[in-house]
Parts: sequence; C-alpha cells; structure tokens
Amino acid sequence: MSFKFYAVTPSSEKSTRDCLDPWFMIYVTADGSVKPCCPHSAIGALSHDVSLSDILDGPSIRELRRRLLEGELDAECASCPTRSLTTPEAFRRKLRIHLARARHHPATIQSKQSSKSL
Ligand code: SF4
Repeated sequence: MSFKFYAVTPSSEKSTRDCLDPWFMIYVTADGSVKPCCPHSAIGALSHDVSLSDILDGPSIRELRRRLLEGELDAECASCPTRSLTTPEAFRRKLRIHLARARHHPATIQSKQSSKSL
C-alpha cells in the first residue's frame, strides 16, 4: 500500500477534494469522538444522548458534505494532505455513481465473534 500526499491548495477551477469519506466511512476514536476521516477534526461525540446515527445525519456532517459538493472547503479539507483536487462537477458525477452502486449493492455488515471469551 502506498500513500500520496497532496500539498496543492484549491484553485478557482479545482476547488474541491476528490473525497467520498463523509458519505462512506467514519472514524470513532476511543473517547467517543466521531471524525469523517483521519485528518479532519471531530464532527461530534457519542454520548448517552447522541447516537452515531444522529451524527451521521446531523448538521456538521451535512455541512461538510455540502462544502465538498460546492467547492467551498473548510480549512481542514482545503489543506487536506490525502485527497487530490478536482472540480465540483466531476466530484458530483463521481459521488452519484458511488451512491447508485451503494444502493444496488448495500454493504453487508458481518459480525465476527470470537468463541473465546475475553
Ligand atoms: S480532511 Fe481530507 S479526507 Fe477528510 S473529509 Fe476533508 S478532504 Fe476528505
């Protein structure tokens, strides 16, 4: 596995990042903080009153998605080292394709339980 690091900042033409993370993955840290990806700061925190579903459908991640779609990146996405730049139009096309695929082939969540007790 190799990683590319992107030092290029957004331009008027390529004003967004080629990043599907806020639609397809999530990071939950040991303290319950919820992040859209590795480099971005938390967009919420799990608690007795706040579920993961609340955060995945909440205003913070919706705003992050909107910014990626519109090419109005927040400071962290603008300086993201892990995703290349692209145009909002190309990004929206790519996202539509991935969302359509996800609807036709929903992920199967498999729970692997050890036969050993901890
Ligand atoms: S910081 Fe980078 S990886 Fe995270 S959501 Fe923004 S563009 Fe995507």
